[in-house]
Amino acid sequence: MTSSLVIQTSFLGDTVLTTPLLTQLAHRGPVDVVTTPASAGLLANHPAVRRVIAYDKRGADRGIHGFLSLAKRLRREKYDVVFLAQGSWRSAALALLARIPSRVGFSTSAGRFLYNRRVQYRDDLHHAARLLMLARPNGREATPEELRPSLHPGERERAFVDALLGASGAVRGEALIAFAPGSVWATKRWPYYPALAVELGRSARIVIVGGTEDAELAKAITEAMPTAIDATGQLSLLASAELIGRCAAIVTNDSAPLHLASAMGTATAAIFGPTVPAFGFGPLAPSAVVIGHQALACRPCDRHGPQVCPLGHFRCMLDLDAEGVAQQVRSLPSTPDSDA
Ligand code: SF4
Repeated sequence: MTSSLVIQTSFLGDTVLTTPLLTQLAHRGPVDVVTTPASAGLLANHPAVRRVIAYDKRGADRGIHGFLSLAKRLRREKYDVVFLAQGSWRSAALALLARIPSRVGFSTSAGRFLYNRRVQYRDDLHHAARLLMLARPNGREATPEELRPSLHPGERERAFVDALLGASGAVRGEALIAFAPGSVWATKRWPYYPALAVELGRSARIVIVGGTEDAELAKAITEAMPTAIDATGQLSLLASAELIGRCAAIVTNDSAPLHLASAMGTATAAIFGPTVPAFGFGPLAPSAVVIGHQALACRPCDRHGPQVCPLGHFRCMLDLDAEGVAQQVRSLPSTPDSDA
């Protein structure tokens, strides 16, 4: 038996994409995960994970005291190996101070000098596959099934979603399509969700997912399509995954809900503006369509998506009209008026 620690303190989507690695490691022995407080709830109930350790580096665990206390706590667990899914100096130093004898991470990471096994960062792979390679650097590439992320909403999440849908007047069995209009990066937000709601809302109930920061985007959608359900800011991430799992399809930007949908197997229409799936963060759901401008020399212009278009025209998103996106959504076989 090998006891493993995985350190993943990046964005929410990265945590979801780490789950294939966790599943692989669980075959070898117990697996604990250090992650952010925001991501910790996502891994609740996950059968591959023994313990989730939330590292609140900007709150309760801030400063050198919080860092050293966590290192001490990890040292007591006597892990055999740590996988640095997030490559900062801080994470590498944490692994070193926790006295974990085998420290595995990417050869390109900032903290690589503190690793004793460095794995090539494969630009040509999906990020879930890259992370999985940490556990088998010389092994075969993963199959699509091995690559699919997984999340496990429980009774609590199901009850929340039942209550939300019940209170919104949704009828049991009614077809739902999730919209995820938000993103931390402004240029990743496709601006025509309200018009898309009018296109698709006649044959399915639109459900808007996101955080409290997405309330304004949701308001514009419910104003255009009053039967749409605004679930922004009302559900935990795992309950959002449960809700997305109940939908016939999701329309999403290049943001965390895309990966929640991959984990729940929900048919995905993913809209990419300044970024491209080749960066390694495309959909992994069994049925998916990627929508992006195919004739712009400036695209992609940034790994994350800048806050404003550096050229001022923002054509990578503005040229993608609602009618065209609706057509792509209807190409997914699970949508109610599918033309597939
Ligand atoms: S430069 Fe091109 S790809 Fe980048 S935001 Fe502007 S239109 Fe989009």
